[in-house]
Amino acid sequence: MRDFNGIPVPEGERIQARDGRFLTPDHPIIPFVEGDGTGRDIWKASRPVLDAAVALAYGGRRLIAWYEIFAGEKAFQRFGEWLPEDSVDAVREFRVAIKGPLTTPVGGGIRSLNVALRMQLDLYACVRPVKYYAGVPSPVKQPEAMDVVIFRENTEDVYAGIEFKQGTPQAAKLIGFLQQEFGAVVRPDSGIGIKPISVTGSKRLVRQALRYALEQGRTVVTLVHKGNIQKFTEGAFRDWGYEVAVQEFRDYCVTEAELAQAPYHGKLPAGKILVNDRIADSMFQQILLRPRDYQVICTTNLNGDYLSDACAAQVGGLGLAPGANISEEYAFFEATHGTAPKYADQDVINPGSLILSGVMLLQALGWQEAARLVEAGLGETIRQKKVTYDLARQMEGATQLKTSEFAAAIMANMQTLHAQS
Ligand code: NAP
Repeated sequence: MRDFNGIPVPEGERIQARDGRFLTPDHPIIPFVEGDGTGRDIWKASRPVLDAAVALAYGGRRLIAWYEIFAGEKAFQRFGEWLPEDSVDAVREFRVAIKGPLTTPVGGGIRSLNVALRMQLDLYACVRPVKYYAGVPSPVKQPEAMDVVIFRENTEDVYAGIEFKQGTPQAAKLIGFLQQEFGAVVRPDSGIGIKPISVTGSKRLVRQALRYALEQGRTVVTLVHKGNIQKFTEGAFRDWGYEVAVQEFRDYCVTEAELAQAPYHGKLPAGKILVNDRIADSMFQQILLRPRDYQVICTTNLNGDYLSDACAAQVGGLGLAPGANISEEYAFFEATHGTAPKYADQDVINPGSLILSGVMLLQALGWQEAARLVEAGLGETIRQKKVTYDLARQMEGATQLKTSEFAAAIMANMQTLHAQS
């Protein structure tokens, strides 16, 4: 096997992908990017937790061969590049990877390393599970009612980067074209942005969300859109979503319109998924007022951006919000917060987001026992009020732990839980 970035590949095997699923050997090689700033602290804490869970769950039969790849400041210092091609190639080779947060380079031609990675690997679905861990301070009365997984489209919408600044010849040309060809009235002093939403981009996202719901036993998938106003982009997303449901998942899906009629009369049969849709503004109310009605949310890029953070706020913020960027071929798991540079190398930051991203990684490998163990260990540690500074400052009677101590407490709880099981 060839080296990447001049670093020898550890002993282990490649993960394969078939029909949108990963086939995981017992010793998979998994690339990791430590991340910048506090990325160093949280990766140092997360890796032993994931390894301990695998060891406990499988008694040595399974083992992750971690393989360091480079992006961000560490890559720039070593290779003079923010995102070496070899690092991207290593993810192509080994398919599943995990990363800490990365600094956004100022100047240097890269708008965002995260966006560059998503684009280069066509990681078209941003997946964010949002659920509550008992004891975490929350601004709502029943935070435990929230348990949703958000599938946000990652490659198009207003994020496609087709934007023209007010006053430029490009903006003037486009405004002129719109007026001459379509009679559209656009103020001449406008900036212009374009919002492409495609059949391909929409359908592959909905397919992923429905497949996930089926595999994880979730029974409601909600298409969130602003189709009442933006009919041919957001409205089309909704229509194409329903098409995927009834054309490709017919045996498993019941639409909201069908549910109201015979033979269902409002009752969803066991084993079926209800596919419904909500207009984005209404969804923000719904998720606050009736969170139990929602399980999987599938939405366009901008709606998903807003909604993920709003949902995370309901369960106590971004400190415990994991994420993944995925396609049929690759999965890149990541902490969702930034590098929090003022806390770098102080061993104080909360590693929860990266540890929970590791839980998602273990789930993607099909190593559910190890995934459950990490989640239970972390949940128990928070329940015991042993937490890092960010949670301690909001919790009465909390014991404030360092990053490494928090990880050690999770591992101790995993031991106990495993011994009891
Ligand atoms: P940030 O790094 O997320 O930090 C903002 C604040 O959020 C911190 O000062 C801290 O608040 C809190 N925080 C973040 N992570 C935490 C954790 N694990 N535990 C406890 N508290 C946490 O946002 P930023 O300062 O705007 O961005 C810094 C750099 O990160 C920038 O270069 C940005 O571009 C980059 N960034 C990267 C990613 C990514 O790689 N995915 C995402 C976002 C931003 P308190 O000070 O109140 O404790």
